[in-house]
Amino acid sequence: MFGWTGKLLHINLGKGKAVADKLDAAMAKDFLGGRGFAARILWDELKQGVDPFSPDNKLVFAAGPLTGFALPSSGKLVVAAKSPLTWGYGDGNIGTFAAVQMRKAGYDTVVVEGKAEGPVILLVRDESAELLDARDLWGLNSFETEKKLADVYGHTAGMLCIGQGGENLVKFANIVSQQGRAGGRPGMGAVMGSKNLKAVVFIGTNELPSAYPKEMKDLGGEAYREVLLKPNYAFWKRQGTMSTIEWSQENSVLPSFNYSEGIFSEADAIGGFATEKIKVSNRGCPQCNMTCGNVVKDSDRKESELDYENVGMLGSNIGVGRLTQVAALNRVADEYGLDTISLGSVLGFAMEASEKGLIKEKVPWGGFKTSKALIKDIAFRQGYLGNLLADGVYSASQEIGKGSDKWAMHVKGLEISAYDCHTTPAMALAYGTCSIGAHHKDAWVIAWEVKVGREGYTAEKVDKVIELQRIRAGVFESLTVCRLPWIEVGLDLEWYPKFLHAATGMEMPWQVLNVVGDRVFNMIRAFWVREYGGKWSSEMDVPPSRWFDEPLTEGPFKGAKLDRIKYDAMLQMYYQKRGWDDRGIPRESTLAGLGLAKVAGELSRHVNLAQ
Ligand code: SF4
Repeated sequence: MFGWTGKLLHINLGKGKAVADKLDAAMAKDFLGGRGFAARILWDELKQGVDPFSPDNKLVFAAGPLTGFALPSSGKLVVAAKSPLTWGYGDGNIGTFAAVQMRKAGYDTVVVEGKAEGPVILLVRDESAELLDARDLWGLNSFETEKKLADVYGHTAGMLCIGQGGENLVKFANIVSQQGRAGGRPGMGAVMGSKNLKAVVFIGTNELPSAYPKEMKDLGGEAYREVLLKPNYAFWKRQGTMSTIEWSQENSVLPSFNYSEGIFSEADAIGGFATEKIKVSNRGCPQCNMTCGNVVKDSDRKESELDYENVGMLGSNIGVGRLTQVAALNRVADEYGLDTISLGSVLGFAMEASEKGLIKEKVPWGGFKTSKALIKDIAFRQGYLGNLLADGVYSASQEIGKGSDKWAMHVKGLEISAYDCHTTPAMALAYGTCSIGAHHKDAWVIAWEVKVGREGYTAEKVDKVIELQRIRAGVFESLTVCRLPWIEVGLDLEWYPKFLHAATGMEMPWQVLNVVGDRVFNMIRAFWVREYGGKWSSEMDVPPSRWFDEPLTEGPFKGAKLDRIKYDAMLQMYYQKRGWDDRGIPRESTLAGLGLAKVAGELSRHVNLAQ
């Protein structure tokens, strides 16, 4: 087997056992790696209804057949589990040396189950695995933890760890690496904490097995060069994703004041050009020459790594207009190991609840000090409000009641990323149908939609959402490589089948890869439906009512809002094109057509499947 290392590692923390397995060749071809492997493994190995915090939940670290090769932006790893935030499929990708080192240690995937008696580190060093006492690390934040690990294992070791958020089972705690690279929004850090797993360290010295090493070397060199020569490369290096603040402001889609508006009066002060003024360096993922992390000095004179999402959510969405303060909130969140998107959403929710008098705590819009203190309360589950918000915005709105669910900004329990959708129905559909709950990574359709015209609820838009979900959610997340060289500087998609051929020896043109994309997407939808059973309905794919009921009150789109009847019709069109029934459940024939007949058989034990 080329491309893949050909091995999976199963760790049982409760029993202290490690078992290596051969990777099934058919699984490799059908699911590629990363998200594809995670979805397949969680479907096959988890019992329906398992509590995400029980030892029986499994935490999957999965790379793909391109991970770690000298190719543009190939240093990514997917972390996945049943989510404590959504009780559905959860995952996220992280750009980290751990991705490269895990593969060099000999594994494409590591699956962790059980619960250790006390805090442990999982150390995987060239095919051997051991559990080490981590009592001295428990209670440290993620930056401190990684520093201690680096002192022992060296700075080139691949390290993944949790902060206090994961230890205290904050339901949107993530997994952190390299002091600021983080992933696993739907509580993957909390799942790690529930298993008493403080950190994972990978150290590998093996060569990655490629079918055509010379072709791989030549292609990698050419592709890196092409990225460097792209016209917008220089500007990208200056601002990375931060220029999106100005773009979102211009187009009235910058989430402001808990998504009640799409513009923010201090947008310029937190945008790409403001970032350039205080930037000290670039940071990035391994194997990447686009290094998009903007490192700035925050208001505490410490380093913080900014991108669009964390600035949108911890800036305009909560009314903070000083970039150094936004950066401090972001850095504190990374230290505790909290997802910054969900964090900005629960803070915005608390500010609105406070303004409306629904909670007794005073949480003013734009309050930097209050926000910083509240972030600590969330990470440690301290006080009524900290503990309430630690369960996520859906849960908080259920507890508070009084109509707050209308402005609890989530889909399926996962807080929405940093794009307001009052005026963008296709982006709303992308959030509604994303495979982990509301996230932009599966189908970032908004830039295209703004160009073609945002008014329509058209078949063309539905097709675009599905096309992007195939490429991004299915293929990129499974290969497992970063999508940004393609999206941001325009690296041609045709490079990827060539990379795959050099790595694996297999010819997989985009027609074949798109089928893999659909297979992975349908597998994940089947997982959600199996979990929710009779409670599943098309309502699960609908964004919050704020965007339908409360028009924008400022800016060029003042008065605009989404149309619920038209959204529902567009959603039904989406289901038809996907081969799903009117509840959004894959038809038996759709699953069978993707080689998932057994999945259909199992799913039909939980819900009636349409033909
Ligand atoms: S473009 Fe940014 S996110 Fe993607 S691999 Fe490079 S540094 Fe990481």
